[in-house]
Amino acid sequence: MRLRLPEERPTEPPTGYKIAHPMLSQDGTRAGFTGVSLGGALPYGVLADASCVYGLRHRAPSRRCDCGFHCVHDRRTAEALLCTAEHRAAVLLEVTVLGRYIRFERGFRYARQRVRTATVGPCACGTVAAALADAGWGRPGWTALAPSCAGCLCGRTSVSLAGFARLGGEGLRVVAGKGAASVAVADLGYAKDLGVPELAAEAALLQARLDWFQAQLARLGERGPGGGRKG
Ligand SMILES: [Zn+2]
Ligand SMILES: [Zn+2]
Repeated sequence: MRLRLPEERPTEPPTGYKIAHPMLSQDGTRAGFTGVSLGGALPYGVLADASCVYGLRHRAPSRRCDCGFHCVHDRRTAEALLCTAEHRAAVLLEVTVLGRYIRFERGFRYARQRVRTATVGPCACGTVAAALADAGWGRPGWTALAPSCAGCLCGRTSVSLAGFARLGGEGLRVVAGKGAASVAVADLGYAKDLGVPELAAEAALLQARLDWFQAQLARLGERGPGGGRKG
């Protein structure tokens, strides 16, 4: 006789927490995430189904394999992972666990996932992030992004937090976090739904872009047209 664990039938899908790197598709039309662990090679969308990372033909999660999405029950457990040097630029995700799941002491392994909220940490300079900018690495067809303030963008490929939420779709919220004083920056991604903090963040971003643009123009102006020196 085979022993079976009791099956859970929750009335509402469980909530979990994890960390991931925000990703932008090469053509700039899609936003997603990629995991920080060894199984995190393939970027996933806001609403996604797990498949076996080893290419085995079984449904994920399988009891005999460690594939499937992973998350922990406790927000602080996930936040603690952000302290390590290699995870500093990752974001905290609040997810809804959908489909079949296997419950562990600290979290779930499961079949289907909806990312509800992404909390973006500060820019490397310590300022609250206004955008997600090219982090200097990626996966085939995807650029990894890291939190950036308006002043540190310096012409890198970037997307505002509201823009990332809009590209992610499925009601994704993107929040600029700084400890307990998180500021909601992006919600539905429609301009008519944006409030003062969201518009102020967008304005700061545009101003920084404009400053950078004018600095480049000034630099070219010094050199003169065609870049040649003038006697
Ligand atoms: Zn598997
Ligand atoms: Zn900065």
